[in-house]
Amino acid sequence: FTAAMRAWSEGLIKGKKALTRFGTAMLVNVINGIGGLPTRNYRQGRFELAEKLSGEELEARATARGGRTAHACHRGCVIRCSNIYHDEQGQYLTSALEYETLCLLGSNLGIGDIDAVARFDRLCDDLGMDTMETGAALGVAMEGGLLAFGDTAGVEELLKEVGAGTVRGRLLGQGAATVGKVLGVKRVPAVKGQSLSAYDPRALKGTGVTYATSPMGADHTAGNCLPGRGGLDTKQAAGQVDLSRQLQIISAACDALGVCIFVGPTPDNVGPLAQQLTYFNGNNWQERDLLELGKEVLAMELEFNRQAGFGPEDDDLPAFFREEVLPETGTVFDLPQSQLAEVFSDFFRPGGSG
Ligand code: SF4
Repeated sequence: FTAAMRAWSEGLIKGKKALTRFGTAMLVNVINGIGGLPTRNYRQGRFELAEKLSGEELEARATARGGRTAHACHRGCVIRCSNIYHDEQGQYLTSALEYETLCLLGSNLGIGDIDAVARFDRLCDDLGMDTMETGAALGVAMEGGLLAFGDTAGVEELLKEVGAGTVRGRLLGQGAATVGKVLGVKRVPAVKGQSLSAYDPRALKGTGVTYATSPMGADHTAGNCLPGRGGLDTKQAAGQVDLSRQLQIISAACDALGVCIFVGPTPDNVGPLAQQLTYFNGNNWQERDLLELGKEVLAMELEFNRQAGFGPEDDDLPAFFREEVLPETGTVFDLPQSQLAEVFSDFFRPGGSG
């Protein structure tokens, strides 16, 4: 087991150098480049100030002020994608500043100021609020006219109002779906009541399939079809259902094992993980056993949802992603619901054990 882990760790150290150096913020320029960066509540897929939210900017500011990148969020991690971010005076501000936060509290709100996003991150942490859901809720609030896109001071004030328990603060604290209902906003980026992550599903259609079908709602960690995965063009529909399904099964297995997502819930890692499990507990784990574990987890989640009242009609994206063309890619989300219904059809039996 130790020898297998050593070889595995050496591979991670060599293969994840950009993640170590820039953290998950390395994705800002990548996703902006393909036109999938949520900007002003998904009105655009490219943000003119993306560079100011990038991993390069984060590394430069963090290291110049006494913070750091290449920080391990727990002892023993060899990837170390975390960071410690200080303010202009060199005082600790937050840790870690992540891609999803930089986009959903940054580009999604029309704010290209990394220090401002770091302050929002700190406020959310102090208030116990998820930065992604909060960013999406603020985007919907801006869409509904509660404040203007780009209003940094307004965001800071509204976040503080969540802690103070004002009417506006209590509304924001309910998340994007509720803010949309109260303000009468139709463009609400949420599935099953959970807001989308920082990947526009018109530019990354496989991730869109995962958003629509994951039992957890619009959760990228359930099966993120990033550029390069499966050798597909992320903007084309072909092959995305199969890729999403495959990655959702592997992700569920990795989650059940407690493996960090940045190790990579991808097909090439299934064999090595099965081997490590075999060495660890003496049972003969094969790749198919790991995949069965993932399917079993998903089947339980799907059955839970069914009993909680969710039906096939809930497995879809908000209509505006099908109706509005994303300017940068010229695409809409065009996978029919009949294809989305196929994602788990072969192993989930409603009312059964799965
Ligand atoms: S455990 Fe995962 S999230 Fe934490 S620093 Fe390591 S790679 Fe990043």
